Amino acid sequence: MPDTDIAVIGAGVVGLAVAARLAAESPGLLLLDRNPRHGMETSSRNSQVVHAGLYYPEGSLKARLCVEGRRRLWDLCARHDIPHRRTGKLVTATREEDLPALDRIEQAASTNGAPVERLSAERALAIEPAIRTVGALWSPESGVVDAHALMDHFLQRALAAGATFLPRTEVVGIAPESGGYRIEVRGPAGTEAFTAGRIVNAAGLEADTIAALAGVDVDAAGYRLHWCKGSYFSASSRCAKLVSRLVYPVPAPESLGVHVVVDTGGRLRFGPDAEYLPARAADYRVDPAKKGEFVAAARRLLPDVGEDDLEPDIAGIRPKLQGKGETFRDFVIAEETARGLPGFVDLVGIESPGLTAAPAIADEVARLLRG
Ligand SMILES: Cc1cc2nc3c(=O)[nH]c(=O)nc-3n(C[C@H](O)[C@H](O)[C@H](O)COP(=O)(O)OP(=O)(O)OC[C@H]3O[C@@H](n4cnc5c(N)ncnc54)[C@H](O)[C@@H]3O)c2cc1C
Repeated sequence: MPDTDIAVIGAGVVGLAVAARLAAESPGLLLLDRNPRHGMETSSRNSQVVHAGLYYPEGSLKARLCVEGRRRLWDLCARHDIPHRRTGKLVTATREEDLPALDRIEQAASTNGAPVERLSAERALAIEPAIRTVGALWSPESGVVDAHALMDHFLQRALAAGATFLPRTEVVGIAPESGGYRIEVRGPAGTEAFTAGRIVNAAGLEADTIAALAGVDVDAAGYRLHWCKGSYFSASSRCAKLVSRLVYPVPAPESLGVHVVVDTGGRLRFGPDAEYLPARAADYRVDPAKKGEFVAAARRLLPDVGEDDLEPDIAGIRPKLQGKGETFRDFVIAEETARGLPGFVDLVGIESPGLTAAPAIADEVARLLRG
């Protein structure tokens, strides 16, 4: 008998949602994370936006799981008092040349099941008078959630159903054996090992490393991750009064573009930019020298932003499957029997909209494990 039926590696929002979803059926579930607490990496270093599902290609997992996850999240927030604001979002064309991009987003949104409304400049300005716009899309289903509170909710649900959370526990080896896997971990008591019947790899930036530990050839599988940093600058309280909804430009190829982020407390930030890191080093410092770029990007959306309104804030790192300049890659959500790893589920490349999609990703994992 294995020590546990299911081990979930990684207690970010995805691993937590998976643990909350599976613990009722598998009460001895173990959730492992190398950090002292849950949610200390990408899941707490993002825009906290609940995306409606406007942009992703038709039929992709990102499109389907974003729309399902968004519906599930709004319902969870309402039922469990998780702080959130359904602010809605404006995607603004700031120049005439951006208008065709709005047409494309409108088309993708309607195919994906995300309601949007096309607005003239006058109507957009009636909603947010301080923005720059020649026309916009209004997405009423977008908003923000307190990601920490959401993660606390998932953790409490998993624990209440009988799961155990092991922080400060880094997975350093995985060996398939009859009936499951031997997992080697490094923790406060040194190096130990236990067995698990099934494994869910929700290790975020290290999901490819964990897959490789289990014996997957990550290059042949197309699982190699590229780290792409996104920095934010916070805005002064004067600026925070300029706008009360999410305001995005038309998206850039590698990210949704520096946008206006409001949080559940009404604070305002601009970001994130997109900077592929040459090496895998989790350096979350925000370079103050980026201020000029951020002021320019902020002014494209809100012309009244001044030089003194912005200060360096947080940064996060995206686990991207596509390298710089490459085209769209979808989430990888794969049960790996075909690679000789039955009951092993890889979740790789869970970048945006991973926070929004987390409850729907958890359902997908449950479906794959049922076989
Ligand atoms: C700048 C930025 C902005 C974003 N904005 C949004 C947004 O507005 N809306 C949205 O929906 N999504 C957004 N995202 C995406 C979203 O944040 C992620 O998709 C989501 O947080 C991924 O969660 P995760 O649980 O997969 O990863 P993580 O939160 O990174 O969790 C993975 C966990 O695995 C653990 N781990 C790694 N290796 C090991 C090991 N060997 N042993 C044990 N534990 C290990 C880590 O410690 C970590 O806690 C954004 C991302 C970034 C970077």
